[in-house]
Amino acid sequence: MDQVAALARDASMSSSYKPALLKALVGIIRSGAESPISLLQIGHEFVNLYWVQTVVFRLRQAATITAEPEVVRRIRSTSDLRSVRRLTELPADTRLRLDREMARVLTINVLDRFHRSAPSGMPRLYDWRRGDDFITSDDETLAFVRTSGHALETIANHWWARYLERVNMLAPLIIEKVERNGAERGSLAKYLKILRVTDRTCCFYCERAVEGGETPHVDHVIPWSFLLSDPLWDLVLSCASCNLAKSDVLPDARYLDKLAAVAVDRGKRTLPVGVGSPLITRDELDRYYAAALSVEWPSGWMPVA
Ligand SMILES: [Zn+2]
Repeated sequence: MDQVAALARDASMSSSYKPALLKALVGIIRSGAESPISLLQIGHEFVNLYWVQTVVFRLRQAATITAEPEVVRRIRSTSDLRSVRRLTELPADTRLRLDREMARVLTINVLDRFHRSAPSGMPRLYDWRRGDDFITSDDETLAFVRTSGHALETIANHWWARYLERVNMLAPLIIEKVERNGAERGSLAKYLKILRVTDRTCCFYCERAVEGGETPHVDHVIPWSFLLSDPLWDLVLSCASCNLAKSDVLPDARYLDKLAAVAVDRGKRTLPVGVGSPLITRDELDRYYAAALSVEWPSGWMPVA
């Protein structure tokens, strides 16, 4: 009963469930689903959407992490407990449990409230009767969602991003994070080539020489999933074990001094065109770091001595 109460409080609190529902429905219907659509299928899509925002981009779905919806907190803790960042690496039974929890949340204040507070002009997209584990849509509605899917998804992204901006004030590029749906980041090969010329080929973190058979890794000091870009000033060479261990955590703040010094060294060199400026001041670095801390980004990583 406590769990139901927690989920109920949750569903009424979270302003992100409704745009999430619109986005999930559009995705499911555009992929060819017919009526009825099971709540488990919608729950599955919810997990896809929230996983990316919560685990990959670490966006909060409430003003503080502790006030987050129960289901979002479970996604976060599942990822932490199992050290899984990619949803595809989650064991099937754990995944199914999350999908079911999401499906259950839908039945508490989400499905029946959606049409009352959807953007004006939004037609009724489905019918649901309390107790049913599916929703139904008529052919006309399904055809409407299929032909207008792109516009509806844009509305959902805007609606969701507008909410996320309010609770993640200093996180950059929120709209793009919502729109990306977890698309992979680009290759860093061209930066590896440049950094091998400009930097000493030892690990930025543990300072071990990275040579011989080992290819150095390119690491984002301020995590890519926060910045959503690859500015040269943020990239360093690291050994494989530091790069993998650090993952998307902020390093200890003392590495900012070192990163600022690296930027000064690189600024003295001639760099290929089109890779952006290598320069950044210590003040600017501090601001990025503080911005990430302000949205509770995990921090303080250091290599094991
Ligand atoms: Zn290292």
